[in-house]
Formats: sequence, structure tokens, C-alpha cells
Amino acid sequence: MTGAIRSREPFNARVRAALANTVLQGALRKFKTNFVVLRANAVRDLPEFDAIRSHARAMKDHTLAHIDLYIDAYEQKVRDSGGHVHFAPDAAAARALILGICRRHGARTVTKGKSMVSEEIGLGAWLEQHGIESVETDLGEYIIQLRGETPSHIVAPAIHVTKDQIADDFLRAHETYPPSRDLSEPRTLLAEAREVLREKFVTADVGITGANFLIAETGSSLIVTNEGNGDLTQTLPRVHIVVASFEKIVPTLNDAMQLVRLLPRSANGQEMTVYTSISTGPRREGDPDGPDEYHVVLLDNGRSGMLATDFREALRCIRCGACMNHCPVYQAVGGHAYDAVVILAEAIKRGGADREKVRDAIETITNFPGTGGIFNFSPADHNGLDIDSFEMLTVKDGKFVPYKK
Ligand code: SF4
Repeated sequence: MTGAIRSREPFNARVRAALANTVLQGALRKFKTNFVVLRANAVRDLPEFDAIRSHARAMKDHTLAHIDLYIDAYEQKVRDSGGHVHFAPDAAAARALILGICRRHGARTVTKGKSMVSEEIGLGAWLEQHGIESVETDLGEYIIQLRGETPSHIVAPAIHVTKDQIADDFLRAHETYPPSRDLSEPRTLLAEAREVLREKFVTADVGITGANFLIAETGSSLIVTNEGNGDLTQTLPRVHIVVASFEKIVPTLNDAMQLVRLLPRSANGQEMTVYTSISTGPRREGDPDGPDEYHVVLLDNGRSGMLATDFREALRCIRCGACMNHCPVYQAVGGHAYDAVVILAEAIKRGGADREKVRDAIETITNFPGTGGIFNFSPADHNGLDIDSFEMLTVKDGKFVPYKK
């Protein structure tokens, strides 16, 4: 698969290409008028929005300050409900754990709910490389998987793709359907995607989802979707694997529900997503459905290092995407033109004034497939480093290399 992030061009070239892309510019205009306005309306209609947000910030700060306690409590509750918790210090460990579970069950097909952590660790491509078909089931994720791309937005991953492009992708990918069929209407595209994905849902051996929140009080994982694909992914296969980073843990179900009041409103102005689904362990006796096994892969991947830095507050993020929606740079060039600037800042924090340590930190933080990017060193951030030799750096295919214009 080739993708927008896997074949990086210099930042300036990507910006120029994005500005000249009329399809993308049309999508971004709609984005600006729709999501920003809808969020403002939703906030206006919930007078206690700011109070809930203040509570959420305090709750996340409290949880992060006592994260060891909450990880232990969460792990115990998952075990009590018959599930398994696996700790993954980095992306490679998470991929290996998930592949091991899939192989133990002889999995040939895996369905995936939308998960930014699985994008972070390059999970889909990794499973495919190891002979396991990995099918994205969120419609936007499914479309970009067919196109061999990465998401351009954390909430609306295929925002950059038009209806006509999707029709072309379906004509190319769904080979058993008549080539002369009419795919000019969104409704027909949707019906075809639904039919193709239903077949995958019922034949999948393993279902992998992310988690919007992990609840220490009950050992549950909670996901929100608008398509119901999360429910089908986590209830139909024999095995359900949740892959999520540890900062998704919140103390109580009530805390999770407060965040659910903020998340869709902030994302796209919805009061609630269509589905809010909570999973607690495997199927119990008498349950009509559910997996035989329930696993949680809890990812660190540099986050525990962030806890001791000024970047700790980034771990409060609930992935609503509102900052992208309001960002003037995103509104101009979309999500494929730029990426992980934060990684460099974190590497500087870890490495201080030691050039080799910064280099090592960049390699550690970015040591997963599909990572790429160009990082700007701002003089204000350089911590005494010799910035002339570090001004522009590139991480390509998981390796740090100097960037040359
Ligand atoms: S950082 Fe962005 S995505 Fe995260 S909670 Fe804030 S607005 Fe939402």
C-alpha cells in the first residue's frame, strides 16, 4: 500500500499541492462552514458546556496524576470480568501482541473499528504483511483503506475524497459487482459498502476496536460511532481486541458520560453519536452474543515519558478534532500536508541539549512503520542545541535522516 504519509514529499511541496487541489479546497470550505458552525450551535444550546469542560479537565488532570493507581484498578476489573490486559511499551510490542492473539485463534480475517491508535502503530498494514486480511469498517476508514491512504482528519478520515472518487474506488475494488452499475448517488454507494462490509462482519475471526474511554470503575471500554460498525466488530467475532493508549482511562462511568456529552458536540455539533457502546469482558452465560475472549492492549509508546514534561496536558485530549476544525492551517491545506510536529518538541524535551539524545529520542518516538515528517526547530525551543545542523530534520520510514531542501 502506498499512502499520503508513506510517500512524503517536502512540507512546502505538500502545501503547494494541497492549495492547488480544487477537490480538497472544496471539501475544506464545507468543513469550515459546517463543523465550526455546528459546534458553536451545540455549545450555545448546552448552557453547562463550559462547566462540564472544566470538570473534564480537572478529572483528566487528577487521573493522570494518579495514573498508576487507575491502571491497576482498571486491569483488576477487566480480569474480574474475564478479560485480559496486555501492556505494550511501544508500537512494535503492541503489533506483536495483537498478531500473537490473532495467530493463536487461526485468524484469517480481522474487522477493525475506527481507531487512531491502530493508525499510530501501523496495525492494518502489519496484519496484511503477516497474511491476515484487515478490513476497516468505519465507512470513511474503509474508503481510505481502498485508496491506500491515511486519514486526513481524526473524526472525518475521508473528508478529502469526493463522491465520484469513491465511486471509482468501489468500481475498482468490488470486482464481483457488475461494472455497469450506477454509483452516482450517495445512497447507492452506501448500500454497496454496507453489503460488502456485512459479509466481512459475519466472517471475521477477530474484531479490533479502539476505545474513546476505558473505565476503571467497571473495566469497560466505551466507543462512540455513527454507523454501528463498532458494535458489529466487537460482538460478532470470537475474539474482541481493544487497542488503546493508557490515557484513555477515566475513573468512573459517570466521568466517561460527562466526556461523552462533550465529545460529539465538539467534534461535529451532534448532541450524541448514534451509538454509544460499552463492552465489559467476554460473553457471559446467557448473553445472546459477544466474543468468547476479550483482550485489551494498553499502549504507552512514549506517553509515560510525556507525563513528566510540559506536554503532559496533551494527554487530556479526547480526540474530538475541534482544534483541527478551527485551525487556519488545517483549513487551508488539510491533514495530509503536515504531521507530527509534537514529536520533535517531545524529543527536545527528552534529549535536552544533547544532540545524540535528541536523535535517539526521535528514533524511539517514531519507531513505527508509516511515520514520516519534517520538523521545524524553532530557535526558542532549541534548548541550547546547535540548531544550524538540526534546523530541518526528516524521519523517513521510521529512521531519522537529515532533511535537505
Ligand atoms: S486537543 Fe483538539 S482533539 Fe484534543 S480534545 Fe482538544 S480540541 Fe479535541
